[in-house]
Amino acid sequence: MTKKEELRDTKVIVDLDNIAHNMKLIDDLTGPDVAVMAVIKANGYGHGSIGIAPVLMESGAAYLAVATLTEALELREAYPDYPLFILGHTPDRLLHFAAEQDITQTIFTLSQAEKLDEIAGKLQKKAKVHIKVDTGFHRLGQTPSESFAEEIAKMYQLKNIEVEGIFSHLALAGAEEDEKQYRLFCDFIQTLEDRGCTFKYKHIADSIATVDYPQYRMNMVRPGAVLYGMRGFDSIDLPIRQAMTFKTAISQLHAIPKGEGLSYDYLWKAQRDSLIATLPFGYADGYPRNMRDKGYVIVNGVKAPLVGVICMDQCMADVTDVPDVCCGMEAVIYGDGQDGSMTIAEAAELAETNKNDIIARITARPPRQYIRK
Ligand SMILES: *Cc1c(COP(=O)(O)O)cnc(C)c1O
Repeated sequence: MTKKEELRDTKVIVDLDNIAHNMKLIDDLTGPDVAVMAVIKANGYGHGSIGIAPVLMESGAAYLAVATLTEALELREAYPDYPLFILGHTPDRLLHFAAEQDITQTIFTLSQAEKLDEIAGKLQKKAKVHIKVDTGFHRLGQTPSESFAEEIAKMYQLKNIEVEGIFSHLALAGAEEDEKQYRLFCDFIQTLEDRGCTFKYKHIADSIATVDYPQYRMNMVRPGAVLYGMRGFDSIDLPIRQAMTFKTAISQLHAIPKGEGLSYDYLWKAQRDSLIATLPFGYADGYPRNMRDKGYVIVNGVKAPLVGVICMDQCMADVTDVPDVCCGMEAVIYGDGQDGSMTIAEAAELAETNKNDIIARITARPPRQYIRK
């Protein structure tokens, strides 16, 4: 059988050694007393969660975290034994899936805990949960209060629930605001511990906080972006490596005479007699449509600007200045920059978004190819 990645020229190439390298860097940086919950939501930030899960586990991850139940179930099917965590909300009617599949669930009310306790009891299991505390982000979790503390204390009386952890999320609105959130979180944990609640894991740090705020690592961190080589922190020069390369190959060449337009609405017109390459990738592969007149690919070592409107499945590049250009020649969409290719960081800037958006938006259509030495 032909491998899936050979069935299309447009593909995402994932360097698993780079992911292992980044994971090791974080594990070493945080030390033996801090567990790493590796975040692989959104299809592993576009790298393919099934494909990258083993390398993260082998490189020291204590947990793999996703955002949704659907993502967790997909991973569970592939990996019956990996510790999986859902960062997001799972509605009551679906909680039984988490319990059945031994997936640790985020909760923030006593009523969710009671529901899960009832389900787990029937299954003769103990459902693991982490409690989400809202310290200012106002996305998920309850604000610290006497009544919330009361709800949490009652969860410890439920026989089929293990309250394994407690966590919050920083808004990264500035050092002072972050400190305020962290203090609020710690004070609340203290209140709970004074009541006899214990937590195996306490966590608040994402990638940026993990690196920039060693004092907020507690005993677990939740990095995502940094594992894929996305640099958002600025306190130290951690030598992380981008894991993703996005490539395609030229499907056709057109000689376009000066003055002629191309693609929808003829929004680009040839300023000279031009040689134009058609490339088989488009916005339905997750390439930002607003890259028109900004994007480029690297063909034979030369920058070839994208021209005209980017279509759903195809786009065009001006290859007039590319030596020896021919059909089937490789075009690098995103790379590590060493060959002049557009890095994820540059793509984020040009598309006026962030790096996580650029990689997470790459759809399932382009096959993923995993390389490991
Ligand atoms: C996505 C996410 C993370 C990881 O964020 P990065 O910025 O990619 O490190 C951590 N915690 C929560 C709750 C998240 O949703």
